[in-house]
Amino acid sequence: MIPFNKSYLTGKETQYIEQAVLSGKISGNGDFTKRCQAFFERKYGFKNCLLTTSCTDALEMCAILADIEPGDEIIMPSYTFVSTALAFVRQGAKIVFADSCPDHPNIDAGKIEALITPRTKAIVPVHYAGMACDMEKITRIAKKHNLLVIEDAAQAIDSFYKCGDDAEPKALGSIGHLSAFSFHDTKNIISGEGGMLAINDERFIRRAEIIWEKGTNRAEFFRGEVNKYGWVDTGSSFLPSEVTAAFLWAQIESLDDIQTKRKQIWDAYFQKLKPFSEKGFFSLPQIPKYAANNAHTFYIVCNSPQDRTKLIEHFKTNGVCAVFHYLSLHSSEFYKSRHDGRELKNCDRFADCLVRLPLFYELTLENAEYICDVLGRFTKINGKRLSGDQYVKP
Ligand SMILES: *Cc1c(COP(=O)(O)O)cnc(C)c1O
Repeated sequence: MIPFNKSYLTGKETQYIEQAVLSGKISGNGDFTKRCQAFFERKYGFKNCLLTTSCTDALEMCAILADIEPGDEIIMPSYTFVSTALAFVRQGAKIVFADSCPDHPNIDAGKIEALITPRTKAIVPVHYAGMACDMEKITRIAKKHNLLVIEDAAQAIDSFYKCGDDAEPKALGSIGHLSAFSFHDTKNIISGEGGMLAINDERFIRRAEIIWEKGTNRAEFFRGEVNKYGWVDTGSSFLPSEVTAAFLWAQIESLDDIQTKRKQIWDAYFQKLKPFSEKGFFSLPQIPKYAANNAHTFYIVCNSPQDRTKLIEHFKTNGVCAVFHYLSLHSSEFYKSRHDGRELKNCDRFADCLVRLPLFYELTLENAEYICDVLGRFTKINGKRLSGDQYVKP
């Protein structure tokens, strides 16, 4: 069976973990943590970075930093992972879900402004599959209405946004006031469980560090900036141990290699599957003109939920594990009674019809070719062609 995902180990992880352990300092905010943070700041132009124990935690820090209070409204896509919403719901926020673009799971920036009310505090774009949302439009709307932009960049490490042909590409996560990354096992670079908060608005830097360190000014104390430390704010234990940071450092050292490999696999899928999508059997990812591709996910969109169920079954019979994900959050058991009832058709279509193909470092190009052949055979058996926009919700 070709698995959907397999964690890639660079071979240096245990060596760095041993180093961290033997250094005698295995709690958080040590050498490896500082090295990782400095790397991301330098490479991607984030003003300040703090490693966290998960992207969910980084998003929770964003909700605290944004001073979200009960009744505040947050605009985000419904087609996303639970954590994007959960972090704000824990602060009492009301989530106002926006639809996806017709041709991309990302939030449709054109639909945001109509959802803004006097209670709106932030817009949370999610860069699905590591492909940028329309950040120029989102930033413009946010400025006009004095809102925060918090990027859920969980899938978006080493990906970029470019506004216009002459503009310098900007790293995803460097555009919003705050951004959250994930190094969960399923992401491009990993630390088992892990994440990072990137802070681009200087106003938040000092407070973020305090929230990160259980509401204390401990980090300032260790830098010698204050002569005692104590409880100064709200917060939690958001920082990972040095063991996690040491693991991540090994992955960082292989980042370029990992990205090259993933992109090769992604491109191989795309080229092989193009003829089938041109014939209308399913659709392929559309990369927006302003977005780079970090090869986080390769997905196809089937023409109907029935097609998708049959395809996943066909893959299974042929030894391939392909999966779908993201049930629309607006119709989730936890949130549907709180949703305002608006239909989000594009989101539902991706939730019902999207399939992700295996994509991981050790997947060979022969594996990818085999997977495309299996998919090709399915189109012959199934035979149905439709264009995506003919899809009608069952
Ligand atoms: C993976 C993911 C998360 C959660 O990341 P964790 O590190 O597991 O907390 C949040 N949002 C999106 C879009 C994700 O893909």
